[in-house]
Amino acid sequence: MEPITITRAPVLKEKPQDESKLGFGRIFTDHMFLMNYEEGRGWFNPRIVPYQDFHMDPASVVLHYGQAIFEGTKCYRREDGGIQLFRPEQNLARMTRSAQRMCMPALDEETALEGIRELVLLDQDWVPHSPGTSLYIRPTMISQDIHLGVHASRTYLFFVIMSPVGSYYKDGLKPVGIYVEDNYVRAVRGGTGFTKCAGNYAASILAGDIAEKKGYSQVLWLDGVEQKYIEEVGSMNMLFAYGNRIVTPMLNGSILPGITRDSILILARQLGYEVEEKRMAIADVFDDIRSGALTEAFGSGTAAVISPVGELCWGDQVLTINNGEIGPVASRLYETLTGIQYGRIEDTNHWIIKLT
Ligand SMILES: *Cc1c(COP(=O)(O)O)cnc(C)c1O
Repeated sequence: MEPITITRAPVLKEKPQDESKLGFGRIFTDHMFLMNYEEGRGWFNPRIVPYQDFHMDPASVVLHYGQAIFEGTKCYRREDGGIQLFRPEQNLARMTRSAQRMCMPALDEETALEGIRELVLLDQDWVPHSPGTSLYIRPTMISQDIHLGVHASRTYLFFVIMSPVGSYYKDGLKPVGIYVEDNYVRAVRGGTGFTKCAGNYAASILAGDIAEKKGYSQVLWLDGVEQKYIEEVGSMNMLFAYGNRIVTPMLNGSILPGITRDSILILARQLGYEVEEKRMAIADVFDDIRSGALTEAFGSGTAAVISPVGELCWGDQVLTINNGEIGPVASRLYETLTGIQYGRIEDTNHWIIKLT
């Protein structure tokens, strides 16, 4: 592995004073990590430099054909003041899987992880202290060839930027309303649903916008073939509780395999819940809400960890789940997972990388 060079910013930015106003992804730290790729040469020149603009040729492939993939992971501050990462190697492994689908090069995961560690250590004062806050880490890979032909590039850039983010739940875990999208689809069999590629999100914005105008915070996507089976929410996987049984749509190539989802399924088994991954028809879920068999619904993702769903709207049917309140299963999983992430609960699964 080539050593990572570090060029420090001559002047540091002012850090946000009020951590209750951080929001998500609007402020960035002092430095970023970069490395380049060339066909025949592999990844080279890993470096940390001051956060700065990129210069791009207008004919860059990425601007036209969207060869771009990203990841999202977080650094958490413990009560003793130390900081730690949660399963970042899983994000890098997933980025390599995304890359393969997009005809992009496999990541040098070892150097990328080292780059993230060094970058976070250098900018460690940016990891906020208030409960529920964290430093969001955004690894990204883009193609760099300058060429209007539709071909895979021979040159790529991997970069990591970081943003301090606020607590998702300033007033506790509030259930959200979700709109079941039965017109547009997010992913199809053989497509890019399992990847975190930029285009997936571009294609989802319209449906998200429509749902928001109807008063719902997110879209629940159905399968792209029959529009009968539950896939996932905008940037979260979906889980359902039937008493002490947790059921979630099985990974099928069009669902994004969430690291939070995976962690929750592992923790749920360890906590004694029964866990089932299967194909879930939306009509059955609506029947099960009506009959009372389905007791809770919640989304899972790095940003919110767990987001309880209090209302589901599908066509002309609007149902309330658990009286629009957070249920015991979602609460317990949230407390356990965030407990591990913030170092309040022992990490028996070896998910944590302590940095300080
Ligand atoms: C990122 C993402 C998720 C959640 O993945 P995590 O690894 O848990 O953050 C779920 N669905 C989509 C579409 C996503 O982009």
